[in-house]
Amino acid sequence: MRLVRPFDPWRSPLCTCPAKYVLHPYTGCGHRCLYCYASSYIRDFFSPRPKEEFWRRLSRDLELLPAGSLVELSTSSDPYTPPEERLSLTRRALAELLGRGFRVLVTTKSSLVLRDLDVLLKYRDRVAVTVTITTLDERVAAALEPGAPAPAERLRAVSVLSRSGVPTLVRVDPVVPHVNDDPSALERLVEQVSRAGALQVTSSTYKARPDSLSRLLRAFPEVAPRIAEAYRSGERVGGYAYLRRSARYEYMKTVREASLRAGLAFNTCREGFPELATRGFNCDGSSLIGRTGSAATL
Ligand code: SF4
Repeated sequence: MRLVRPFDPWRSPLCTCPAKYVLHPYTGCGHRCLYCYASSYIRDFFSPRPKEEFWRRLSRDLELLPAGSLVELSTSSDPYTPPEERLSLTRRALAELLGRGFRVLVTTKSSLVLRDLDVLLKYRDRVAVTVTITTLDERVAAALEPGAPAPAERLRAVSVLSRSGVPTLVRVDPVVPHVNDDPSALERLVEQVSRAGALQVTSSTYKARPDSLSRLLRAFPEVAPRIAEAYRSGERVGGYAYLRRSARYEYMKTVREASLRAGLAFNTCREGFPELATRGFNCDGSSLIGRTGSAATL
């Protein structure tokens, strides 16, 4: 089975990602986000383990990959999940991909990405980094993403990367109703993201699957009935329970307006609101590759 594969958005009719390949050095993820979608599809998801025969399969696949392809690490696990600190599969794969002339999009919640700043800087014209930050509230983040680094640590990673010249995007994703949806808190988060030097924000609301929804309801009992009702009265899209369209639009508009005020480009992920996107900026951050300067000047 191929390790470097064409990206599959799990049949989402609303996915706006450009054509790209994905590489997962690990199966599963130790960040244990309550809202994680991948845990619905992959056995023992919160016990991350390296891919079997990783190096043999990676070198075979790279021989077959069209020159200049875009490869994302990773879309359904975090390439800097805790075992990476010890195993360095992501670091070596990054160097291999970039050394062979491919373009790379790194998507993570971990400040461990800073360990690989030397590699990212060496190839900065062919790489972009996306960091997910859902809230600045340490207490909420600790409940929502118990295995991931704290928000301040992630903001620091954005700042170091951006100031060093690596283009960065921050995903304010997902916005979970009654958990991290306070408009003024979202606005403060976007301001901090802009101060840290990111070029773009991409946002999205939480899409419920039975397992992730029950984790959320258990972790936030005081708002559980309201979360459950928000999804009961929403709509079904591609196997997920979505919030009502009007509620999603309001959340996305809040984050968009804060982003534009802060001089950042904006897009959404699997929401069906193409009119909210800044022209020329893909949802996944791939259009930041090769760009420098602030978003306002691009
Ligand atoms: S970091 Fe991503 S892949 Fe890992 S648990 Fe969180 S949502 Fe899932």
